[in-house]
Amino acid sequence: MSGVLIVTGGGRGIGAATARLAAKRGYAICVNFAKNRESAEGVVAGIGQDGGRAIAVQADVGVEADVARLFDTVDRELGTVTALVNNAGIIEKQARLGDIDAARIARMFTANVTGPFLCAREAVRRMSTRQGGAGGAIVNVSSAASRIGGGGEYLDYAASKGAIDTFTLGLAKEIAAEGIRVNAVRPGIIYTEIHASGGEPGRVDRMKAFVPMGRGGQAEEVAAAILWLLSDEASYITGTILDVAGGR
Ligand code: NAP
Repeated sequence: MSGVLIVTGGGRGIGAATARLAAKRGYAICVNFAKNRESAEGVVAGIGQDGGRAIAVQADVGVEADVARLFDTVDRELGTVTALVNNAGIIEKQARLGDIDAARIARMFTANVTGPFLCAREAVRRMSTRQGGAGGAIVNVSSAASRIGGGGEYLDYAASKGAIDTFTLGLAKEIAAEGIRVNAVRPGIIYTEIHASGGEPGRVDRMKAFVPMGRGGQAEEVAAAILWLLSDEASYITGTILDVAGGR
């Protein structure tokens, strides 16, 4: 077995593709979800049919008690976590700064920044060789928006992903000597349901003209990069942010 992997937001999109690929590579998987139980349980059932081992656990990553319960459940049902993918994230309706209020900024940063901080904290407590753990790897899912800025669409989302880039660099250094590697992927525009939740289901096809490779990406292409960063093939890589964006 490759280890025990928690994928936050693993029921749909990039997280679901990551969970499926990781199961094929031999990980026991916790598919975390926020609201869509049916979708998460579908991913778990598919992994089980292919001979893998997975559980679905509801938890809002922005709620401290939920995150504690998520990790305790994994301890009990799968064993000590060895890999974490901080994938859960949200956007909101496209808006310019004038229409972004404090409540929206708080929702965005709670899900996209507080969530990864809390999940990483619980993972580090269990993985750190300084605390008796056996080491591990963390991959944060950022976004090309952190480089581009999200102007006219998602300033708050882009800024939250900028925080994730910086968190990745800092945490990687903080725990590099404790057997834990921390890296990030920065997807470009990927075919998932997130664009519908931002109010534009066809956004990838509108934006693909701006991608040097001339197409949007598939969730499986991001998952492959995540699994590589988690694997021993990336054993000397930490604090790295890997763009998975077709050259954009
Ligand atoms: P998606 O299809 O909308 O799926 C998002 C997943 O996150 C869902 O499983 C959702 O759970 C979960 N989630 C949302 N808020 C949560 C919370 N507070 N606690 C726990 N789970 C939560 O999104 P996606 O496109 O796959 O995006 C995944 C990650 O990639 C995000 O971090 C996103 O910012 C990033 N990304 C995406 C793109 C893109 O073009 N698609 C580009 C760059 C970066 P439910 O199923 O229960 O709702």
